[in-house]
Amino acid sequence: MTIEVIVDRDKCTGCGKCYAVCPKAGKIFKKDKNGKYYAYDTKFCFKCYACTGRCPVNAIIVRSKEEEKNENKNKEKIKL
Ligand code: SF4
Ligand code: SF4
Repeated sequence: MTIEVIVDRDKCTGCGKCYAVCPKAGKIFKKDKNGKYYAYDTKFCFKCYACTGRCPVNAIIVRSKEEEKNENKNKEKIKL
């Protein structure tokens, strides 16, 4: 299962709360030159959702590729 950890860097304030709560933070998250966080390597993510629950601006989405496909299918159904 491929997991995606998507950080919306427009929303991210760089508060570091995701980094503080993620049990694998050192392997998954990095800071960019603007002080915003992004997921560098998601293979260590086990979908505990601690980061998404902690982010004060809802900037993080954690999902599997399969969930993304289902979301897209649902969107297509809504369009019909
Ligand atoms: S879901 Fe859990 S393991 Fe994955 S990035 Fe967020 S806090 Fe880390
Ligand atoms: S918790 Fe949210 S706002 Fe804070 S650094 Fe992480 S992604 Fe950015």
